[in-house]
Amino acid sequence: MQAQLVAQEKLSSLGVLAAGVAHEINNPMAFVTSNVRLLAKDLEAQPHLPEVLREYVDDVLPATLEGIRRVNSIVADLRRFAHEDPGAPTPFDLNNELTLALRLAQSALQGRGELRVNLGELPIVVGQARQIGQVLVNLLVNAAQALPARDGVVEVSTHARPGEVLVRVRDNGVGMSAEVRDKLFQPFFTTKPVGEGTGLGLAVAYGIITGHGGRIEVESEPGRGSCFTVRLPVAAAEVQVVPASASSHALDVY
Ligand code: ADP
Ligand code: MG
Repeated sequence: MQAQLVAQEKLSSLGVLAAGVAHEINNPMAFVTSNVRLLAKDLEAQPHLPEVLREYVDDVLPATLEGIRRVNSIVADLRRFAHEDPGAPTPFDLNNELTLALRLAQSALQGRGELRVNLGELPIVVGQARQIGQVLVNLLVNAAQALPARDGVVEVSTHARPGEVLVRVRDNGVGMSAEVRDKLFQPFFTTKPVGEGTGLGLAVAYGIITGHGGRIEVESEPGRGSCFTVRLPVAAAEVQVVPASASSHALDVY
């Protein structure tokens, strides 16, 4: 299951990479496509073409256009894979996403310590629920992996603030040096052994949260633990309150 989570993180990171590549290729390809089409059209319209150009019109240009079609279809595939267009933002219950994320991260926490969950009453958030869920899984797995061999505790809580909602993931694990804290959100930065970390979890999280107009903050002390806070804006018009399912409960995971 741990391997499954690493695989999932790799996949979602690959999605971000795929979206980036598709975007980078798409712009120059649009330019190349329209120019080659224009060239083909102009040459075909010529009544007297020199022999060497005739070869271009008959063989080279059709082959080139076919190549362009293939590249464009690969770019379209990359986009689909990356879910680049995740659809319109939809209203969702952040506590619900957190509960789902906790279920996914459960195996990473298993046997590593105690999990304490405290869900506050939250207004509805508008955005990409699936992406936010991925951020929460990434934070929970990091917290679990940071825990000490004994007496590890992960505390997860949600809070409503004026104009925003907060999710906190706190652990009493290894903590971070200032050097690590500085590089935390860089893609491929990891202090974990191969197979345990890709160094992409927080880079992906950062992209998703800032994409939602939110922020992600870190407090940490080496040897004492870390606390990640995700802040997501809620529209002023969103006054609807979701009743907290169980406003405060502790789940012991051993
Ligand atoms: P990965 O988990 O694959 O290493 P991340 O982007 O999730 O990649 O995290 C990058 C690095 O940040 C980790 O390797 C670790 O050094 C540090 N880190 C992240 N979360 C924590 C945490 N809760 N406690 C201590 N260090 C952390
Ligand atoms: Mg990670």
